[in-house]
Amino acid sequence: MNKYKLETLAIHAGENPDPNSGAIRPPIHMSNTFKLPKFGIKLFDALLMDSDSSPFVYTRWGNPTLRDLEERLTALERAEAAVVTASGMAAISALVFTFLQKGDHLIASEVCYAGTVELFGQYLPRFGIEISLVDTSDLEQVRAAVQKNTKMIFLETPANPILSISDISEIVKIAHESNILVAVDSTWSGPTIQRPLKLGADFVIYSLTKYLSGHGDALGGAVLGKKKLIQRIRKEMLVHLGGALSPFNAWLIMRGLMTLPLRMNLHCQNALLVAQFLENHPKVVRVIYPGLESHPHYELAARQMLDFGGMLTFSLKGGLGAAITLAEKVRLFSYATSLGDAHSLLFYYPTDLYIDAMPFYSDIQKQRIRKWTGDGILRASIGLESADDLIADLDKALRARTFKGLVGPLAYQILKKS
Ligand SMILES: *Cc1c(COP(=O)(O)O)cnc(C)c1O
Repeated sequence: MNKYKLETLAIHAGENPDPNSGAIRPPIHMSNTFKLPKFGIKLFDALLMDSDSSPFVYTRWGNPTLRDLEERLTALERAEAAVVTASGMAAISALVFTFLQKGDHLIASEVCYAGTVELFGQYLPRFGIEISLVDTSDLEQVRAAVQKNTKMIFLETPANPILSISDISEIVKIAHESNILVAVDSTWSGPTIQRPLKLGADFVIYSLTKYLSGHGDALGGAVLGKKKLIQRIRKEMLVHLGGALSPFNAWLIMRGLMTLPLRMNLHCQNALLVAQFLENHPKVVRVIYPGLESHPHYELAARQMLDFGGMLTFSLKGGLGAAITLAEKVRLFSYATSLGDAHSLLFYYPTDLYIDAMPFYSDIQKQRIRKWTGDGILRASIGLESADDLIADLDKALRARTFKGLVGPLAYQILKKS
């Protein structure tokens, strides 16, 4: 399979037509348990899970539909192996609970998906795991954070929601000098535009919920990497934390993956056009998109990524009031969290609220984040609609004035003080 290009692998890898009916779309194996071949050695093979072709026993350990998806993801990432999970967070927790224990130290991006930074900053310390949250786009900070007991560096690039870019191969160099594992959450790029394993990372993490599934329906997650390490995740923490993916969701994600290369191209193309439009708009203060030369890490992004993705952030001259008006007046964008959907989405992050929700941030970290985001940022997930229509929608909403836009900021200040 590996001789094929990604467009072909997205359709054919993991395609196992049903041997009974010949159905090309595989059946969904909605069975939580499997009839075992015979009492004896086969059952023990299955329980030991030492091979990625172990017999199926119980869906929390493995299932034919999940295995098809794992095969397709493995091919797309040109990895040795994949394990799929119920969500992106299930993938991240399975990873860290497999490889970290009491007394170990983890270095991670200080700004990444909120669920991840909360898990690391708030909950892992409960289990005696030491954490350093640093700005991983600054190699000096990464280097300075390495300790004798550091076991893993976890980075997210581009980082959600601020779109800072970290240098994967340089961080791998720092880590591998000291036998430290490197995991990269590459959800905002996907395998067609960023290849962390090729750059030396040990693991790639996905929230399949986003671009890889791509239609805003199923939740899912995955970890990819070396066979031996992925087998450990499956055996230790997929099975015991229990975050198994539903076969139905696996089937939906398989279907979404068929068009991933095609969709990703259009997400990138549309996002660049919207970013350029916003950058030239009189009501816009700043646009952050890795494909704009104004992005502080543009050169690194151009070197490390094959394209710049479908996510961007921007801030408006009218601040919170203007953001409220925009959210109210857009028609094609939905005001919603999540991303990577065919449908365009827009969400506002007030910096105060974001920072207040993370009690573990130091003052220096808060200042660093504020320097990047100002009072707040609008995060846009640019969908697959016509870029002309998206731009017209934003333009009209940016010109609008609303009562809520006028009183909103005031109401917000009163709410915050009460
Ligand atoms: C959404 C997201 C996650 C979490 O994924 P879920 O599927 O919602 O659990 C993790 N990392 C990144 C970068 C994300 O955008």
